[in-house]
Amino acid sequence: MNDRADVIVIGGGIVGTTTAFFLSRRKRSVILLERGLTGQQASGVNFGGVRRQGRALAQLAMSNRAMETWRHSRELLGEDVEFLPSGHTRVCYHAHDAEYFHRYANDARDHGLDLEVLEGEALFRRYPFLGREVLAASISPLDGHANPRLAAPAFGRAAARAGARVVENCEVVRVEKEAGGFRVESAAGTVYRAEQVLICAGAWANTLSTELGEPVPLVARGPQMAVTEPVPYVFKDSMGVYTSNKAESVYFRQIPRGNIVLGGGPPGIADIATRRASVLPENTVAQVAQFCRMVPALGALNLIRVWSGVESYLPDSEPIISPSSKVDGLFYAFGFSGSGFQIGPGVGETLAELLDTGSTPIPLDSFSIRRFLNSVPMRAESATSETS
Ligand SMILES: Cc1cc2nc3c(=O)[nH]c(=O)nc-3n(C[C@H](O)[C@H](O)[C@H](O)COP(=O)(O)OP(=O)(O)OC[C@H]3O[C@@H](n4cnc5c(N)ncnc54)[C@H](O)[C@@H]3O)c2cc1C
Repeated sequence: MNDRADVIVIGGGIVGTTTAFFLSRRKRSVILLERGLTGQQASGVNFGGVRRQGRALAQLAMSNRAMETWRHSRELLGEDVEFLPSGHTRVCYHAHDAEYFHRYANDARDHGLDLEVLEGEALFRRYPFLGREVLAASISPLDGHANPRLAAPAFGRAAARAGARVVENCEVVRVEKEAGGFRVESAAGTVYRAEQVLICAGAWANTLSTELGEPVPLVARGPQMAVTEPVPYVFKDSMGVYTSNKAESVYFRQIPRGNIVLGGGPPGIADIATRRASVLPENTVAQVAQFCRMVPALGALNLIRVWSGVESYLPDSEPIISPSSKVDGLFYAFGFSGSGFQIGPGVGETLAELLDTGSTPIPLDSFSIRRFLNSVPMRAESATSETS
């Protein structure tokens, strides 16, 4: 078995699997090393929101690129990841948030995202089920949702079919620069070599970047999820409350089978050592109260399951998607702060282009690791969070 490639990708979440997929399509040889199974961490347990609206404008070019991949995922992957472009709607309760919807819609148009903002009677004609505290809605008709359990493993399999070597149950413990490239060592003592390395190890990436001289203030938190019993399929849009008050935030999507998946509110605790994130019962109670405030008729539904996942957050809630500031040939992509699932394939395609050609038309300055130069690790409690 060849343990040498053009590129070693460390981490098999949505970012790693899509980068390996797009690199392989460019005929670059790739080894993807994943500690557990592809899509086992945040990428496999998230809410499944494929949402562009609400992202920082700097993310929209990559987010639009990702949307093209989601739209063509069935042809590209040869399997169905249950992507439904059924629309994404954000609603708000406060006048300043309604004003923000209009401002954001104007700005987003220049970045290739068309939104419709509704208020008053028009709003309740379109969404008669919404609670009467809702003031405005911002609708992104081409956004939607997908099944996170299926997506990253499907990209991993497609990468392997395109020529990538995908090695699961392989924990990377050391990355070293050597003449002509990198030496990457696994916990089992296997050595892999490549000219370029991408570290996209989610909440664990900081351990590796610190050893390479680039510590960042990354923290792990656990967004809180729940799912209801199945009921008739009526909610096509994925919907959520936009608010600067985290306690009011809630979002939901209904899958065609009838279950409603919901999330939102303050995150719980996530532990990178045990790789576990817990659901705090008080968060679930508060989440259900906000769910009923948004759509009062859903108050009678029973929850059948709750869960969380280990997600990585940076202080400005923007990811690092960046060449290393210190080591030639080394690249990073992590810290997606609750919003990496949708944009993941766009990040993967952009990184594949950057690693292959040395440049990309997508502006990446806002995501440079340099913004955290000289930073010290942060305490988990001070993280900010915004999940789909
Ligand atoms: C509950 C929840 C809900 C969310 N909802 C949404 C949503 O609706 N929409 C959205 O866009 N985003 C959402 N997110 C965020 C999104 O899931 C993440 O931002 C995204 O999946 C991150 O992908 P990743 O590939 O960077 O990281 P991960 O999926 O965490 O993958 C990193 C991988 O690296 C591996 N790894 C770590 N260390 C090593 C090592 N030393 N050697 C080898 N492998 C290693 C891990 O095992 C892991 O598989 C949510 C997150 C959570 C947790």
